[in-house]
Amino acid sequence: MFSEVLSQYDWDSTRQAIESKTEHDVLRALSKERLSVDDFMALVSPAAAPFLEEMAHRSREITLRRFGRTVSMYIPMYITNSCTNSCVYCGFNRHNKFDRVILTPEQIERECRAIKELGPFDNLLIVTGENPKVAGVDYLECALRICRPYFNNLSIEVMPLKSIEYARLIASGLNGVVCFQETYNRSRYKVYHPAGMKSNFEWRLNGYDRMGQAGVHKIGMGVLIGLEDWRTDVTMMARHLKYLQQHYWQTRFSVNFPRMRPAEGGFQPNVVMTDRELAQLTFAFRIFDPDVDISYSTRESPEFRNNMMSLGVTSMSAGSKTDPGGYSVYPQSLEQFAVSDERSPEKVAAEIHRMGYEVVWKDWDRSFD
Ligand code: SF4
Repeated sequence: MFSEVLSQYDWDSTRQAIESKTEHDVLRALSKERLSVDDFMALVSPAAAPFLEEMAHRSREITLRRFGRTVSMYIPMYITNSCTNSCVYCGFNRHNKFDRVILTPEQIERECRAIKELGPFDNLLIVTGENPKVAGVDYLECALRICRPYFNNLSIEVMPLKSIEYARLIASGLNGVVCFQETYNRSRYKVYHPAGMKSNFEWRLNGYDRMGQAGVHKIGMGVLIGLEDWRTDVTMMARHLKYLQQHYWQTRFSVNFPRMRPAEGGFQPNVVMTDRELAQLTFAFRIFDPDVDISYSTRESPEFRNNMMSLGVTSMSAGSKTDPGGYSVYPQSLEQFAVSDERSPEKVAAEIHRMGYEVVWKDWDRSFD
């Protein structure tokens, strides 16, 4: 399990090692075909900031070679905001008083139809809060079966499950699982997740192993940028990715670097990442791993997403609602966070075309299951 591997690495020493990287280390990393985690640390370090243009060039070239001129599109569908956790940065935190929504099967189907009217989406990400009593595996299985006729590619972003539960959902059409570790800083993790199931750092961290053991086809990883030193967090994530690739080599992986957005409760980020820094991180990840899918959500602004489209990013969401029922059932309910790119899917797709790229709506067929 990865928790045993992670315990070999000390947070503060990793941070110091990143901060001590030099121009020489950056140039050496940029001269290599296959990069180690140590090289990745050089590329995310402050020493790499003056090399942004070289990194962008290299990242663009690798992305073109591996993915061509394509951007995959997906859309999230929140089906419940009921949650027993108390993540201090989240509007769905159990301490925030508002009427919780758990969509019924009929409402989930209505949302599927509303999404289909927004655009030819075929990759759906089903999102829930974490409340296993009212929205557990049975509920997820039911949701997958309802959504299946509308979308070929179904992923979930839900509480970490047991391996056997992932396997059960795969039998109901599940293709991918997205889970954000939020932070790899074990001691600080508890500060942000003081109660509920999510306060168990190990259970969440080892959830990726359970996904791999169950044969989940695609695993999405991420840390929440705004909690702890982002350079250290993404280095831990790079180590985690390499570990997973070695152990679950048949699985595909995606990474996401969500920057904290305003949410109910008013939590202020501890760390602010600039656009230049997010670009640096995106380039570093692409150079480090040519195959990994790099995803940007509507947390990012239209301008920034447009600029990054040709430089390493390979999938994007569009037209997203972050409230359950937000597409048709409860268009005014509380969002998990405020989106930044409010363009319609049609507009996003037109922009992708204008830049000479092809929009990939469908990249999986249910017959592959
Ligand atoms: S981040 Fe997820 S688990 Fe945490 S309070 Fe929000 S919905 Fe619940």
